[in-house]
Amino acid sequence: MATDPGYLTYPRDPVFHDRIHRIFDDEVSAREWLEERMWPDGPVCPHCGNGDTITELTGTAHRDGLYQCGECRKQFTVKVKTVFEGSPLEIRQWLTALYFLTTSKYPVPVRFIQAELGISYKASWFVIRRLREAMRQGGLPNPHAQVRKRKTRK
Ligand SMILES: [Zn+2]
Repeated sequence: MATDPGYLTYPRDPVFHDRIHRIFDDEVSAREWLEERMWPDGPVCPHCGNGDTITELTGTAHRDGLYQCGECRKQFTVKVKTVFEGSPLEIRQWLTALYFLTTSKYPVPVRFIQAELGISYKASWFVIRRLREAMRQGGLPNPHAQVRKRKTRK
């Protein structure tokens, strides 16, 4: 086999594919994955910055992944004040799009994201534009890099 440039190696790796599939196929695990990246030391209130007295609101009365701050008393999820905020899309859809944007060697066509996520052309265009802007500013966790790092750690 000829020398394989790095960008071709890991997307073909079965471990990588399996992990990406598990993360992005289920909304709860996608949210937990994002929480780990956003809050490596535990939840932090996006409203006041408090990270000490955060309560996870559990039970059927609350939506999944909802937290309350013990300082300012406001409620939040991991999406608040991120590029994912205010979008009806699930986190797993955002992360799947992010995965393709960060692993593709070529510009990802809007129609491709549309088909992958099962959303409208307009919504796909919005997702791509938002993610590209965030990536330019360096404000997003990169699923590609994270998976790779995890793999090499063991
Ligand atoms: Zn707060």
